[in-house]
Amino acid sequence: MTHQDLLAVVREFESPAYVYNALKMESQYKRLAGAFKKVKKVKFHYAVKALSNLSVLKYLNSLGCGLDTVSLQQVRLGLEAGVAPSDIIFTPNGVSLEEIERAASMGVQINIDNLSILEQFGTRHPTTPVCIRINPHVMAGGNTNISVGHIDSKFGISIHQLPHVERIVQNTGMTINGIHMHTGSDILDIDVFLYASEILFEAATHFSDLEFIDFGSGFKVPYSENDIETNVEELGEKLSRRFNEFCEHYGKSLTLAFEPGKYLVSEAGTFLVQVNVVKQTTSTVFAQVDSGFNHLIRPMLYGAQHGITNISNPSGKERFYSVVGYICETDTFANNRRIAEIREGDILAFHNAGAYCFTMASNYNSRYRPAEIFWYKDKAHLIRKRETFADLVHNQQLIKL
Ligand SMILES: *Cc1c(COP(=O)(O)O)cnc(C)c1O
Repeated sequence: MTHQDLLAVVREFESPAYVYNALKMESQYKRLAGAFKKVKKVKFHYAVKALSNLSVLKYLNSLGCGLDTVSLQQVRLGLEAGVAPSDIIFTPNGVSLEEIERAASMGVQINIDNLSILEQFGTRHPTTPVCIRINPHVMAGGNTNISVGHIDSKFGISIHQLPHVERIVQNTGMTINGIHMHTGSDILDIDVFLYASEILFEAATHFSDLEFIDFGSGFKVPYSENDIETNVEELGEKLSRRFNEFCEHYGKSLTLAFEPGKYLVSEAGTFLVQVNVVKQTTSTVFAQVDSGFNHLIRPMLYGAQHGITNISNPSGKERFYSVVGYICETDTFANNRRIAEIREGDILAFHNAGAYCFTMASNYNSRYRPAEIFWYKDKAHLIRKRETFADLVHNQQLIKL
């Protein structure tokens, strides 16, 4: 997409708006699939929580992705988008037995992450095969907010509890058809990831009815120029070789599964905002935009650095700005950032705004959530209207005094 395309989107749909480029999603998917082409059966379940718009789900499914879901509502979104239940895996954490039973009744693959539910579910539904989520207790890099495989993490069944899992399986007669891990959000060191995989392979030998091994996600994409990204090709090469070897040893060709979220959609997304005010203070120049952490919270929540381009004046002389929002709260998107000269009314583009951006948006300050636009076959398609005042009051009832 060119700057002109993005500016045209704002002219048509106004700001703030999220734009998603289908071609980028496709190239990311193809790169990932290409890296694992030496494995006979591979499946990528797109992690819906990254970006859950129905049209995005439908599009990724058309490329060959299944879905990884963490709530019954996400399962329903997948079905609504036309995805087959057999293409959906349900990987919740700490949800009720009832929610898991309802998802199972819709025909999706269940992934259980604690012994209590495993035993209860197995007792009541011994003929429904389930996957188990293992915590290999490996720190896969990144900070602890996004590393979920380590010892203190609430996620998964500890690898040390395998004997207990086996006992539950024996007692209930249930079938374990998959094992899964999700060590964290960033695979920075491939050898650490492969080390965790070995723990999973070892665990796999304890179950004779496996159909797949799910390695979760953690594919990192670069957020700024010198940022590191996961070397997908190297990971593909090494893990594929090891996986094929394991299948031979296991005596059956299993499916190698992954659940990428960020990798597929992050770079496809751009968040477009308009500059309301350029404000000089004694210490800096603020560019205040028509948004805030109500629309994009990653910089404040994770310290994420989203690249920012002034697409209204891309060749302007660069100056230093603090880019902030318009809500009544500290909502700094970028500090002391070098950006082409910003004038009031300019449109700024935030990069890498596909994953965990719109899905974390709220109505804080009683602002509307932005519109979402899908850029597909060189055309802008509105896939979610901007909210209106009616949405803000929709579920409220005015009390009678
Ligand atoms: C969030 C999540 C993912 C996706 O992680 P990304 O970093 O976006 O790729 C995959 N699997 C599970 C279980 C998750 O919770």
